[in-house]
Amino acid sequence: MKEDFKYKCDSCGRIYGIEKDLMLCPHCREDNPEGRPLKGVLKVMLPEGLKQSLNEKEKQNIFNFLPVEEKYFPSISVGNTPLVEAENIQKESGFQSIYLKFDGSNPTGSFKDRASYLVSAFAKKNNINEIVVASTGNAASSMAGIAAAAGQKAFIFMPESAPKAKLVQCLQYGAELIPVKGNYDRAFDLSLKFSQRKGFLSRNTAYNPMTIEGKKTVSFELNSQLQGKGIDYLFLPVGDGVVLSGVIKGFTDLKLMGMLDRIPKIIGVQSDKSSFVYNAFCYNRFEFDYKASTIADSISVNVARNCYSAVKDLKDVEGEMTLVSDEEILYAQNKLSRMSGIFCEPSSAASFAGFLKLSEHIPKNKTVVLLLTGHGLKDIDSALKSVKFPKAFEADIDYIIDNLNLQ
Ligand SMILES: *Cc1c(COP(=O)(O)O)cnc(C)c1O
Repeated sequence: MKEDFKYKCDSCGRIYGIEKDLMLCPHCREDNPEGRPLKGVLKVMLPEGLKQSLNEKEKQNIFNFLPVEEKYFPSISVGNTPLVEAENIQKESGFQSIYLKFDGSNPTGSFKDRASYLVSAFAKKNNINEIVVASTGNAASSMAGIAAAAGQKAFIFMPESAPKAKLVQCLQYGAELIPVKGNYDRAFDLSLKFSQRKGFLSRNTAYNPMTIEGKKTVSFELNSQLQGKGIDYLFLPVGDGVVLSGVIKGFTDLKLMGMLDRIPKIIGVQSDKSSFVYNAFCYNRFEFDYKASTIADSISVNVARNCYSAVKDLKDVEGEMTLVSDEEILYAQNKLSRMSGIFCEPSSAASFAGFLKLSEHIPKNKTVVLLLTGHGLKDIDSALKSVKFPKAFEADIDYIIDNLNLQ
């Protein structure tokens, strides 16, 4: 029964029933100054006895592990993204098993659809038709697209500097776009005030517990796609740290359900120009006036909203973090495109850049998965930095053959 799903506060451990207006733990949320990581983030707890009540076939249905009934989800298809064996990278690197989980193939082109899908269903179940979100770009275009599929209205707060494609997506999907003269952190706080004043549902990452819960579905998919072949290392990009917590939540739930023996070594990758979670994780350092500046816009955040939870989750599963430079990200994006046919956006290429950086410390017989969270077409300007545009040829076949420098 869905009523048996509960919320548990990640800061104080108190347990609550799931309600539409409950976003952060009422005991911990007072302690949340603007522009800081959130205290009192709520995590969904699976019902007691769920493990015993599901047969093998039911365990293959992800909706049995989510707190909202399947009938409330919009009819757009989210998740079940491809897991591709990276054969050329295996050959070059000597690794036996490298897999690419390409979440850029979600309907709006990013991993964020997993969260928006559950948020939309939650809103539908609670008879809410308006959803508000602040975003660096992908959460916005995602919420706009999924809301369009569900017949809901999305209100989007986005820095005006977000990549064009992401802004255009929002408008195409018919969302109300509110570009903000300021950064993502400013948009986050404004959107919260807007949703509170208007009584709309906020989809802000980490703030709405369904964002973490929705993202756990990728771990369930990986588990069934690899059919019991365990993952040794999983690389993923980190901005606010909700993908990180969602992925870990998924593996933790799978273990609780007896569907997984061991949780992979999770490696969170940040840009060295957006390293809030890394600094907290490695050095217990919190710089609240930190200014991020990476080209990987989807992981460019000053203050990571889910930092406290993400650090705790990663420590619980003995994960690690690493940093990569913008140059390494652009190099990895281009190399991955050439070697796998998967063109992902810079933030996602951070996963591959992190792997390239650490690969000499990983035994070659280990199974490695790279989580690729977004599609490369979402940010053409960054991708242009690592390719050279050929100049136009005379429209003459002899000229072309004589002048083409084939490598
Ligand atoms: C949002 C996003 C991330 C980072 O997720 P966080 O939860 O903010 O850590 C990584 N890649 C892409 C494509 C994203 O849209």
